[in-house]
Amino acid sequence: MFLENTKKSGCIEVICGSMFSGKTEELIRRLKRAQFANQKIKIFKPAVDIRYSDNDVVSHDLHSIPSTPITEAKQMLEVENDIQVVGIDEAQFFDDTLASVAQELANRGIRVIAAGLDTDFLGKPFGPMPNLMAVAEDVQKVHAICVKCGNLANHSHRLSRSKKLVVLGEKDVYEPLCRSCYNKAIAEEKKQSNSTNI
Ligand code: ZN
Repeated sequence: MFLENTKKSGCIEVICGSMFSGKTEELIRRLKRAQFANQKIKIFKPAVDIRYSDNDVVSHDLHSIPSTPITEAKQMLEVENDIQVVGIDEAQFFDDTLASVAQELANRGIRVIAAGLDTDFLGKPFGPMPNLMAVAEDVQKVHAICVKCGNLANHSHRLSRSKKLVVLGEKDVYEPLCRSCYNKAIAEEKKQSNSTNI
């Protein structure tokens, strides 16, 4: 389990993994512990994430913390001077400036904790996540369980055929798969689309 650095200095922590891996739960756990320590926290999420509620970071098991939806990462730089911890949910949907914004916040002495998908449904590094992970002091990969074989899952396999990247996580749209089951599923889909194209 992740144990926080109790010294008050700026840093960047990243929590990443596939859909249903408990990223947001881990983000909320760390933020609640900061609140217990009487630290002032502020939480941002991309305005695109409107799954359950406009103003809450809501995880799949419905623990929630109020958050501020924003459209651009740089809006985080306007955070109030007394804020000690900045939480970022669904970090993968932010623009490419996210890593430099997080750096600037950390340089001000703020603890930045970001949760997001490490890869998209095609298995490719997602948006600003690779850069953010590179500059972070700590990266925790969390895992879901593969629904096919029970191994640790690190892929979010899309069950629908939409190629649009921004489809938010729901159980009927994605399933967590391990590397081997993901590769099998993709091979099977290729076979099917080849046979329908003939
Ligand atoms: Zn599997």
